[in-house]
Amino acid sequence: MHTDLLKELCQTPAIPGREQALIDIMVRELRQTCDQVEIDAIGNVLGYRKGTQPGARKVMIAAHMDEIGFVVSHIDKNGFLRFSPRGGHVPRVLISQRVKIIGRKTLIGVVEGSPAFLKREDQQKTPEIKDLFIDTGLSEKEVNKHVEIGDVIVLDRDFIEQGDICMAKAFDDRVGCYVLLETMKRLKRVPVNVYVVGTAQEEVGVRGAFTASRGIDPDLGIALDVTAAFDVPGVAEHEHVSKLGNGVAIKIADAASISNHGIVKFLQGLARKHRIKHQLEILPFGGTDAMAMQRNGKGAVCTLSIPARYVHSPNEIIHKKDLEATIALLVKFIEASETCKLEF
Ligand SMILES: [Zn+2]
Repeated sequence: MHTDLLKELCQTPAIPGREQALIDIMVRELRQTCDQVEIDAIGNVLGYRKGTQPGARKVMIAAHMDEIGFVVSHIDKNGFLRFSPRGGHVPRVLISQRVKIIGRKTLIGVVEGSPAFLKREDQQKTPEIKDLFIDTGLSEKEVNKHVEIGDVIVLDRDFIEQGDICMAKAFDDRVGCYVLLETMKRLKRVPVNVYVVGTAQEEVGVRGAFTASRGIDPDLGIALDVTAAFDVPGVAEHEHVSKLGNGVAIKIADAASISNHGIVKFLQGLARKHRIKHQLEILPFGGTDAMAMQRNGKGAVCTLSIPARYVHSPNEIIHKKDLEATIALLVKFIEASETCKLEF
């Protein structure tokens, strides 16, 4: 598996509402495989490939382009930055992390806590984002030369490959984008009308997918996203949700959508038939673009999840074989989706 594209996707800064850099990559890649590629008014990238079967279903495949990040909200007289979150952050994991501030010039800063938080008796407490600031070490004058309010901030981490695993920031949901792009390259027969969407602003409440699915009104919707792999020390087996390396996770439900039972069974059957490693997933929290496709499309959705450890941290870990299994199953699904029966 070539990871160059995955690496490029992870390293590209794109937070909710500021997805342009990722939009450019999605457009570049989808132009090779789609009949038509458009960008809508919220910043979704919409790729369309016409089905060979007349009157065939509309199948929408969505992966969100945005990663969690921040924007600069204040620069104080000593050059320290305050920031406003875009997406759900875990404050505990932010302390002492390097970030990139994408201003006129990109600066590197470190997230630190306020003095109150650094007091010995406060060290075990969980900080709140409002108590954190970013230090570039530069003077107010230097910072103001390069940075202004509203500039994008992302976590700064290299992409690491180690045996079968990869470690990086923003696998949520650049692995989904990667699966979507790779699937389009590998499709042989496309009987159904395929709408592939790189969605915008998922991390602030699935906003782009709502807009896109209203326009497309899909018969079937498949979201591609990460899911929790809690297969780590201290977590009981029945709470693992998914396991790294155990294959693509076919979502039965999360807090925001219940997958159509027929689609789940169909995917499970395809995985068995084609010997694709898979697991079934029930996530007691969270949601994906499937939620928007369910409520704004015809109602039948499912999510194919890529297991990831430490989601929404600077070091998410995924397994390459899970990624391969997800692509393999999605290709088989699209090629056969005209025969998928809905069940309730
Ligand atoms: Zn996320």
